[in-house]
Order: sequence, then structure tokens, then C-alpha cells
Amino acid sequence: MDVQLYNTLTRQKDRLEPIDPANVRMYACGPTVYDRAHIGNARPIIVYDLLFRLLRHVYGEDAVTYARNITDVDDKINARAADEGVAIGDLTQRTIERLHDDLSHLGVLPPTIEPRATAHIDEMRTMIETLVAREHAYVAEDHVLFQVATLETYGRLSNRSTDEMEAGARVDVAPYKRDPMDFVLWKPSKDGEPSWPSPAGIKAPGRPGWHIECSAMAGKHLGDVFDIHAGGIDLVFPHHENELAQSCAAHGTPEMASIWLHNGFLRVEGATMSKSAGNFITIHDMVASDMFGGRTWNGKVLQLAMLGVHYRQPIDWTVERLNQARATLMEFADLTANVSNDGAPYEEVIAALADDLNTPRALSILHGLAKSARRGSAEKAEALAATLRFMGLRETETRADYRGDAAAADVDADMVEAKIAERLQARAQRDFATSDRIRDELLALGVQLKDGKNPETGAPMTTWERAE
Ligand code: AMP
Ligand code: ZN
Repeated sequence: MDVQLYNTLTRQKDRLEPIDPANVRMYACGPTVYDRAHIGNARPIIVYDLLFRLLRHVYGEDAVTYARNITDVDDKINARAADEGVAIGDLTQRTIERLHDDLSHLGVLPPTIEPRATAHIDEMRTMIETLVAREHAYVAEDHVLFQVATLETYGRLSNRSTDEMEAGARVDVAPYKRDPMDFVLWKPSKDGEPSWPSPAGIKAPGRPGWHIECSAMAGKHLGDVFDIHAGGIDLVFPHHENELAQSCAAHGTPEMASIWLHNGFLRVEGATMSKSAGNFITIHDMVASDMFGGRTWNGKVLQLAMLGVHYRQPIDWTVERLNQARATLMEFADLTANVSNDGAPYEEVIAALADDLNTPRALSILHGLAKSARRGSAEKAEALAATLRFMGLRETETRADYRGDAAAADVDADMVEAKIAERLQARAQRDFATSDRIRDELLALGVQLKDGKNPETGAPMTTWERAE
């Protein structure tokens, strides 16, 4: 099967033609570990996990190497450690443990390799030495800078003109740069900052710039040229443009990766997520607190909600979207209860994913399978179960697993369930006055009832959630 992906470099959908089909190699820029991963960080993790799964399906489980790095040297990390008065290594270790714990709630596979920047300082130094030797980089005031003018093709990934890039770079011009566009490969460390022996004959100890970290980690684990380089759209410039420049210049190759993939940004209820706007949400907030939408959310609900929008489009993270994903997974769980997960994923879904990860189309095919399953097709129920499993959306969950903890803070769930039972009884006796009174009493407490039917037995069933 052909896999087509939109390539930022060529600005079109390209057919993936693996350099070595027995070892398809992809790299994704992972989180900087100074704080818990936010829900925006979860988007590339979820999307590129699905790509990893697709490639394993097409090329074989052992034929794909996925490296997702951890950036554990960075100014933000140093600043946070100083603020909290903790050692930098303790902060990054704690944050990495939290990241793994948060990701364990999602149905994502661990990447093949999770390289950490601090474990690749030697490779970075070697690469910098090579760039200096090849006269693509120079030393100035204990910094090593990449000289952009030495690479004619600079700017081709982000498709920016030199004028535009220069205008951007002029905002922050350091005196030691030969040209405002030149970027840092290595810089001196201030007191208290992590430091390593410097390359290129610099006496003062120092630390790497951000871009060289990814070039060195990708080069070490995936080779000079590999198949797919991925990350969020914010990284196209300067991060990926600079990675591409350094890697090609150091390895003497025309390319770093065949295909460059970028996911669109996530916003929250229509606004850019930020601490100051008060809409900053972490994965942990979603799965372990009732901060968003008044309940905790099952990790697979987050995954399905994320995949409801094509990865290249911006996504608006809303309670409504999550409620829909939750209701869908509940329904799918009912339809696939007691059905084996172990079959092959549905080929039409695979074909949709192989077309630039068209998840909206894949999900509408899943809804079609659900419809047939609802009408009694055991075959389609099995296809649904196996495809959900393939996508990381199902293990052994039942409807109840998606319920989440609603508003534990100020509503007594046992009381609500007891009132619902009382109301169902009243309704069975056609005592609608009592039924309405109970509904209104609960609404006054901020609890919204939803009447429906148990999909298996057809009996009346009432669910509840906290009113927005
Ligand atoms: P960072 O921790 O900022 O280095 O980001 C880690 C990854 O998450 C990168 O691939 C970013 O492009 C991506 N990312 C950060 N914020 C968002 C967002 N709001 N929406 C989508 N992706 C994001
Ligand atoms: Zn990177």
C-alpha cells in the first residue's frame, strides 16, 4: 500500500518511498521538560503515534524506528529550576516521570527510542567541530555560530525569502554575529547553568543551542538521511530550517529527511492557550482533575477527540468535542462488548489513514461500521473492534470506563444516582410530576440529566453530567 503524506518541503502530498523499507525511520520533536505536558503537546504525540502504527502495519512491526526526543537542556528548564530552587537534573527527571505517567493514560505506543539531549552532548560537539572544519560555522566570543550565508539552500523548508528572515532576525541581534541570521550552535554557560567542555578550542565551558540537539540525536539514531521528520507547525522556522541546514552541511548530504510533516496548532475554546488567559490545560488536568468540563476524561477520549480534526488543521479543544468523543466511545464499547479485538483492521480505514492521515474520513468509516454492527452485523462489530484496537482506541474498555469522575468537588454522585433511580421508578408509574420535580431539583444543583435507552436491553436509562 502507498502511504501519501503532505510534505512541507515540497508543499504537496508525496508518496513515502522508504530509503530502506526494512527500516523506515521517523523523528518527532518531543517536549521540553520543565513542566507537565500541555494538551497542545499531546497533539503531535497522538498524531505521530497513529503514523507509527500505520507504518508498522504497512512495513512490518519491526521495520519502523520511531525516535521522539526529550529536550532536557534549555533556558526554560534553567529558569524554572532556579525559581523553584531545585537542581536542574531533579526537575527534568521529575518532569520526565510525570510525562510517562501522563502518556500511560493515552493509548499511544512508546517510541522505539526516546533520546535525551543531555546524553548526546558528545555527538553535538562532534557535529559542531565538523561544521567549523567545513567553514559552515565560526567561533565568536565563546559562541559557535552557524553561518547561514554558506548554505545557498537556506530558507527552502519554511519558504521564506532572505529579506523576511533577516527582518525577523534583526529583532535580537547579538554583537558577535557576522550576520543577524546566523544562529547559535554552542554558547557559554552562566554560573549555575549546566555546562560541558566546549568544542572548537573554546576554553570556557558551555552548552548546546536547541537546534543542534535534534540534529545530533536524529543523526545518531536514524542516520544522516532518514524518511520522516515531524513536529508542530511552530517549529518550521527557525527550528526545523536550522536543523536541516546543520545536518546537510555537517553530513554533506542534500537532504536531512525525505518528508517533513507538521501538525496544526491546538487552541482552547477558541483562544490561544496561555497561563495568563487562564485556559492552560495539561494532560494531567484532563485525566486527573475536573478542571475542563467538570469531569475527568478517559485518555482514549482525548485521543479520539484529537483525531476528529485532520492533523494539519488547527483544532479547537472544546468540552463539546470531548463530550462527543466520549459518547462515541461509549457506544463503540457497547457494540464491541464480547467481540474479539484480534482481527485485522478494516482496510478502508487503513486506506484513509494512508492518504495523509485522513482521520476524519477514518472516523466516518468507523461510524458506518458501528451502524452495521447496531443492525446486527457480527462481522462489522469485529472489524470495528479490531480497527479501534489498531488505532490505540480500545483495549478492554466498557461504557463505564469512559464515564469519568464528574464534579466530585461539589456534587454527591451517590445522591445523584439515588435520585435518578427514584425518578426512573416514578416514570415507570407514569408519575411525571415527580419525575419533573426531581429533574429540576438536580438541575438547580448543576446536574443535567439525559434520558435515553440502554442500547442492549432497550430499557429506559438516564445519564447525568454537570451543567456547563
Ligand atoms: P515544546 O515542549 O514547546 O518544545 O513542544 C513539543 C511539541 O509540541 C512540538 O512538536 C511542538 O510543536 C508541539 N506543540 C506545542 N504547543 C502546541 C499546540 N498548542 N498545538 C499543537 N502542537 C503544539
Ligand atoms: Zn527538534
